Amino acid sequence: MIAAQLQAELAGILPAGDLMVDPSELFVYEFDGFTIARARPGAVVFPTSTEQVVQIVKLLAAAGVQIVPRGTGTGLAGGCVAFENGVIVSTSKMNRIHSIDLRNRVADVEAGVRNTALSDAVAQLPGGSAYHFAPDPSSQRASTIGGNAATNAGGIHTLKDFVSSNHVLGMEMVLADGTILRTGAAAGCYESPAMDLPGLICGSEGTFGIITRLQVRLVPKAQGFRTIVATFGRTADACHTVSKIIADGHLPCAMEMLDGSMVRVIEDAFHFGFVENTQALVLIEVDGIEELLDGQMKQIVAICSFNNATSLETSADPTRRAALWKARKSAFGAIGRISHSYCTQDACVPRSMLASVLEKIDQIGREYGLQITNVFHAGDGNVHPIFLYDDRDENEVQNTLRAAEKVLQYCIDVGGTVTGEHGVGIEKLHLMNYQFDRPTMDQFQRTKRAFDPDERINAGKLLPSEVVKVQILKPGRHMPQ
Ligand SMILES: Cc1cc2nc3c(=O)[nH]c(=O)nc-3n(C[C@H](O)[C@H](O)[C@H](O)COP(=O)(O)OP(=O)(O)OC[C@H]3O[C@@H](n4cnc5c(N)ncnc54)[C@H](O)[C@@H]3O)c2cc1C
Repeated sequence: MIAAQLQAELAGILPAGDLMVDPSELFVYEFDGFTIARARPGAVVFPTSTEQVVQIVKLLAAAGVQIVPRGTGTGLAGGCVAFENGVIVSTSKMNRIHSIDLRNRVADVEAGVRNTALSDAVAQLPGGSAYHFAPDPSSQRASTIGGNAATNAGGIHTLKDFVSSNHVLGMEMVLADGTILRTGAAAGCYESPAMDLPGLICGSEGTFGIITRLQVRLVPKAQGFRTIVATFGRTADACHTVSKIIADGHLPCAMEMLDGSMVRVIEDAFHFGFVENTQALVLIEVDGIEELLDGQMKQIVAICSFNNATSLETSADPTRRAALWKARKSAFGAIGRISHSYCTQDACVPRSMLASVLEKIDQIGREYGLQITNVFHAGDGNVHPIFLYDDRDENEVQNTLRAAEKVLQYCIDVGGTVTGEHGVGIEKLHLMNYQFDRPTMDQFQRTKRAFDPDERINAGKLLPSEVVKVQILKPGRHMPQ
């Protein structure tokens, strides 16, 4: 609970529906998609304007209360978990699209606009169906553009379209003292003058300030697509296929991989008729100028066959394509059919190491008696081992955390990174020192303090904090002290 006076002052800024203090409602805001870490916030506020954000931030700073920015809470690293009595500032009601400028291919949106809501709005305009906002995390129907920028979200088409920071041109952010920072390219322009502060803020996971508004790039959709589904009897063959396709100079717009257990989950849920005993499935898409696509598809099919694909399906049919991608994007949800709880890990490794990493994941799973299933963005080496466990069993929770740590350490050891796209949050805080050397960590800390000198915003996330001590991994859960 927050102090009665602070509650009254917040109520003076916000209408009743935009201030949440009832414990039975706050319960929902105890965690994000990383459900292992939980802490009840003192309050959740839903500002609807930048001016309200400024007033709220000033009030909370004066009261010495930690501020936790949140979009829609789909994050998978505990980034928007509030420490005891911290206040969550959710930008989810700041969801106006201020302008869509198709001539200059930019849009000006509030931070709480959902990812697909922008492309849907663009498609409604005359000539707009040819354009979209490209970043496409699988959560895109729910997650916000502010959250996408804060986590520098990737997605299925990152291989060709790149991560969110490549699509953010400008930004408005409220700093810890209430200053409004407006930075980035001038309206309608594509280049940031001087320092690229929006580039720096992307991926800062809500530790620099509260993003309230963004200017983003709109890009043309490809003219045509070909979708290829290849199944394999051996995971290593699928991994070699992925590396070979890139090594041969192809750039598919997406290249996703599902392991055998995931294929079975999807098959049970969607009945695609995939070959029985499939150990890996690779879903590949090429896009571009219609006339060139069949030739490119043939070359990729040849690579799959050479690497012992057990079945191959190619399609130019938009309905089939939509069904295949819907199945891929629904993969996380379908896990609910086989497990009480799950925890999705996220690392990026060199593509050439994929086979070895998957083998290691399997070995670690057996060591800890855990089932681990995999569905991931193979084309950019972004692995997502999904640990299946029962959160009512503390032993299984602990084993999941230990096994996840071992997997991430292995990924770092083979030249990979502690996170591919989900961010560090509190989940991976303890591995930051494993990945980065002292001078780099010190520079990260100095950068954080340049934006937020007193660590008032989201302290203890992404970087260890002197102000907020987080009890890390062993021996208990990731709970704030
Ligand atoms: C089923 C599923 C699939 C997913 N697939 C992908 C995927 O393919 N690629 C991917 O990258 N991620 C994926 N994610 C993770 C998640 O959806 C992304 O990280 C997304 O960008 C989070 O957006 P959000 O609005 O939910 O942010 P939240 O979860 O609310 O917050 C995430 C982080 O951003 C900060 N933040 C949020 N809003 C603001 C703001 N306005 N100002 C400052 N900081 C802010 C928070 O403090 C927190 O640190 C997936 C999640 C789920 C549940």
